[in-house]
Amino acid sequence: MTARLMDGKALARQVRDEVATGTAEFTARIGTAPGLATVLIGNDPASEVYIRNKRRACAAAGMRDLHRHLPADVSQAQAVDLVDELAEDPVVSGILVQLPAPGHLDTEALLARIPASKDVDGLTTANAGLLAQGRPGLRPCTPSGVIRLLEAYDVPLSGAEAVVVGRSVLVGKPMAQLLLERNATVTVCHSRTRDLAEVCRRADVLVVAAGVPDIVGADAIRPDATVVDVGIHRGANGLRGDVDFDKAVEVAGAITPVPGGVGPMTIAMLLANTLEAARRQATDLT
Ligand code: NAP
Repeated sequence: MTARLMDGKALARQVRDEVATGTAEFTARIGTAPGLATVLIGNDPASEVYIRNKRRACAAAGMRDLHRHLPADVSQAQAVDLVDELAEDPVVSGILVQLPAPGHLDTEALLARIPASKDVDGLTTANAGLLAQGRPGLRPCTPSGVIRLLEAYDVPLSGAEAVVVGRSVLVGKPMAQLLLERNATVTVCHSRTRDLAEVCRRADVLVVAAGVPDIVGADAIRPDATVVDVGIHRGANGLRGDVDFDKAVEVAGAITPVPGGVGPMTIAMLLANTLEAARRQATDLT
């Protein structure tokens, strides 16, 4: 048996087209396009690539690219001043501080300056709290992209056994909460989990976000399960994920490839969040 491939690239294109249509409507109605302020601190090459891709996607969707770049040796006070300025600026719909920031900065204190209404990464304590309580808010992009993929491929979630490998603030925890919100029975695994493969085999839906290549092999997959691989690793043969894809594809019912699975969905959901933030801010003003 060979698993059905869940094509994140195609779905991301569809989401971006929807956002572009929504952005054009918003701009015609309000008179100004939604604006995304990406903030890059320093010159980390990987961060520069991520930021470039986000800015391109933002412009392609018809949004205003309000990018700001700070030097690597910027002080905490200067970085805070910039975020405060963006928070106050009505043309800025969304603020995204690219992580990791240089080590001398207090990242948590910096993110805390972003108002929940402009937190398009969904990573502030306020938005994490809203998610935990099941109240409306901006959701983190990667896990909400996973949910969009699962829904697009009609993967049943209500009553399903879902296992999430990883409990980071960025992916694992919000992923578990979004699955719980959709009435899955959720188990969260981490580095102290005993017999990871045995727990993973319970899953109808298995989401792997551990950052460890090949941590999930065929022995950890229930036949016909849906497997979502969030991991990204750059190697000599290109990108790969956390799942041993060649073996897993023979057991799973559906699986995301790396690249072309979750990755493209993350940027698409960032654009969707920016449009949503702009719409809510416009509603609050009227
Ligand atoms: P992270 O902050 O390093 O968290 C990794 C999580 O995996 C931790 O909770 C850790 O457990 C758990 N873990 C590590 N080793 C394990 C093991 N042997 N068994 C079970 N659990 C284990 O990483 P992250 O930010 O969540 O990212 C995870 C992966 O997703 C990375 O490869 C990252 O590059 C990728 N990623 C992809 C996208 C995308 O757009 N596709 C977006 C974000 C991240 P403890 O808590 O016990 O340490």
